[in-house]
Amino acid sequence: MLDAPNPVDETLRQQALDRLELLDTPADPYLDTLTRLAHDLFGVTTALVTLVDRDRQWFKSRQGLDVAETPRSLSYCSHAVMQDEPLFIEDSHVDVRFAGTELALRNPGARFYAGWPLHDAEGVPLGTLCLADPKARQLSEREKSQLRDLAYLAEGYLQLQQNSQQLDDLRDALSREQRKGMLDALTQLWNRAGLLHFLPLEQAAAERSQLRLGLIYCDLDHFKRVNDTHGHDGGDHVLWESARRMSGAVRPQDVVTRNGGEEFVILTRVHDKQELLQIAERIRLAIASQPMQLEQAQLQQTASLGCALLGPDESSADALKRADQALYRAKHGGRNRTEFAPSPH
Ligand code: GH3
Ligand code: MG
Ligand code: MG
Repeated sequence: MLDAPNPVDETLRQQALDRLELLDTPADPYLDTLTRLAHDLFGVTTALVTLVDRDRQWFKSRQGLDVAETPRSLSYCSHAVMQDEPLFIEDSHVDVRFAGTELALRNPGARFYAGWPLHDAEGVPLGTLCLADPKARQLSEREKSQLRDLAYLAEGYLQLQQNSQQLDDLRDALSREQRKGMLDALTQLWNRAGLLHFLPLEQAAAERSQLRLGLIYCDLDHFKRVNDTHGHDGGDHVLWESARRMSGAVRPQDVVTRNGGEEFVILTRVHDKQELLQIAERIRLAIASQPMQLEQAQLQQTASLGCALLGPDESSADALKRADQALYRAKHGGRNRTEFAPSPH
């Protein structure tokens, strides 16, 4: 198999990765933009930011793949990381290093593979930016340098994240196991447990900065039809894509959660009703303004939103209820719209 010209100390590497606390965190709209660009630029089926963990590779960002992680034994990225060199496999069926191995046999979607290692600020390889495709393929020198440039951006972004206050807060507030239990695998958003965890924290943060806590309920319209027409996998893809668009439409400090099914709750600190409505409308338009691309079809998805400002003496549960009632009105008003809940008294 592979020679490792610069063997990586795996114990130190794992420690560095653990210290970062990036594993099992929600998807990040900037990295998602980057993998989407890579996906489109190279015209491959799959583009990923992977983190190579003890016994798995976990995807911090993924395009064209609908699982959150795969076993490390089936990971080409693990090889790129362990040799700390870019790894190019033009055709795994004939590649002298991999042809006939379990790794090649069980990765038909990665007959072509190109992975560029991503390092932390100390130069320790953590994972890769990688491309994969079920068809054999050769990258030109120019394409290789484009991949290197995108990897450079991804790496720089991860290194900047290392010092971000937001991640610090997350690290302090939640253990890795807790965090894992609060992540929705399908959408890579916080799940309902995450919502319940962040509600009081966001409420306190809003109070500290003399802002109001805004709650936005967002429910996809006629989603049952999507499943009926495009199958459950098509529906899952729409959920995933809607999640990406919602995260991209809000600000980095806003908390986007999947409350269940095709219903999402967003927590956002705002000055007033107008700012809250602006954010809700941005979310609605992010979903409705462009059709979503499914494998065989395009789909025009819309969503209805209900939003509320947490009242001064109100419980967050009551405010959520009001937002839900506003959502109900948006549905009855014809869908693809935003309704604001009047204040509690
Ligand atoms: P409305 O506009 O009134 O919200 O109509 P709707 O069809 O969106 O609402 P309804 O509650 O009738 O249906 C929601 C559907 O969402 C039903 C359920 O099968 C589907 N659903 C819930 N969770 C998932 C999921 O994880 N994946 C997929 N594919 N579908 C899901
Ligand atoms: Mg719905
Ligand atoms: Mg619903």
